[in-house]
Amino acid sequence: MQPMRRESPYPMVPIEEAQRIIAAHVAPLGVEEISSLAADGRVLAEDVFAGKDIPDVPKAAVDGYALRAGDGMAERRVLAELTAGGAFHETTLSPGTAARIMTGAPLPPGADAVIMVEQTEEYDGVLRIERSLAPGESIHTVGQDIARGALVLSRGAILGAAEIGLLATIGRGRARVYRRPVVAVLATGDEVPEPDAPLSAGGIRDSNRYALMAAAREAGCEAISLGIARDDKAVQRAAILDGLARADVLLTSGGVSMGTRDLIKPLLAELGAVHFGRIAFKPGKPTTFATVRDKIVFGLPGYPVSSLVSFEVFVRPALRRMQGDARPERPRVRVVLRDPIPAPGDRPEYQRAIVAWEDGRLVARSTGAQGSSRLLSLRGANALLLVPGDGQTHPAGAELEALLTGPLALDDRR
Ligand code: AMP
Ligand code: MG
Repeated sequence: MQPMRRESPYPMVPIEEAQRIIAAHVAPLGVEEISSLAADGRVLAEDVFAGKDIPDVPKAAVDGYALRAGDGMAERRVLAELTAGGAFHETTLSPGTAARIMTGAPLPPGADAVIMVEQTEEYDGVLRIERSLAPGESIHTVGQDIARGALVLSRGAILGAAEIGLLATIGRGRARVYRRPVVAVLATGDEVPEPDAPLSAGGIRDSNRYALMAAAREAGCEAISLGIARDDKAVQRAAILDGLARADVLLTSGGVSMGTRDLIKPLLAELGAVHFGRIAFKPGKPTTFATVRDKIVFGLPGYPVSSLVSFEVFVRPALRRMQGDARPERPRVRVVLRDPIPAPGDRPEYQRAIVAWEDGRLVARSTGAQGSSRLLSLRGANALLLVPGDGQTHPAGAELEALLTGPLALDDRR
């Protein structure tokens, strides 16, 4: 049996330094070409330009009649009916004529305006209009929506519904996107069983692997499970090597503190390089970052809140960087405290909060007791309050900075 250590051999690095060290070790992974239909949530790996004007010809913007504005209120003879996608008509409008036209149909030569059908009457091929038009009315002009040669989407853009629509509309059925990182997640601990296995006295169900895999998927990655490794060096070494062989990033949970059964740090040091092993950060002081065989490894703490908050603050930005996201960080905002917030005296704390727009400002309410094992402190949280380690109690009404980790909540006073 090893004696217990009194002091960690790892210096405590400030949060920003830990983030810098991580950023220096991650770069976008490779690029792949995929169907635009399946590209939502992916990050674009190319600048995309429009090859043609949209629309390519002037078109009717409403259902009605194409006509010559200069004919004023005079009756017109209806020469033809033009439909979107219909046979191409050679019809040219001379003075005193009009053509029935449907939304999206090309404007016939000679026409310079379209009147909507609701403002017209037609009997025996003769059109009467309720009001005169100015030239250009209800016409979709060439390049009005997208001009030929325009930069439509930039590298680093996240593809959502609108961006996918843009790819399709300029004729890009396929797009070059960054590959999704594969993230392997390993739980450790002799006391840790599967959630649906019998729980012996003192056992604690493996919530970390489940939560971390969900968080990795939310961050745009593919997550694979490495199961639960006993607190045995050979078992954990084998599991780590298995994860490194199958994934771009390995996340471990537990086994990074000061106990005699905390084996992850020495194992990572043996297999590769540990870049830091402690952060001046709450919750998640023992969070560890290593590179092993050109892969990225995060040794996350065992306490469920420490594990998920460390993921949010240190792992997620790295995973977003690896998939080329031009803005890998969460947005940072100033919030007004609804509840008094006690700060720890030794290190900054990222406290879980719910932020809503109330009376023209962002207001944060606490999720309650902030213990590292109390996963309920993360339920419904959409923000991490950046609480300085000054030992003060920040009173209700004071302001702090916060990272927004989800959409704004509803004002719960209404
Ligand atoms: P450790 O860092 O391994 O000493 O773990 C710290 C605390 O987190 C202990 O109370 C563990 O029981 C708990 N813990 C470790 N792994 C997990 C896990 N996968 N899910 C939930 N709790 C865990
Ligand atoms: Mg453990």
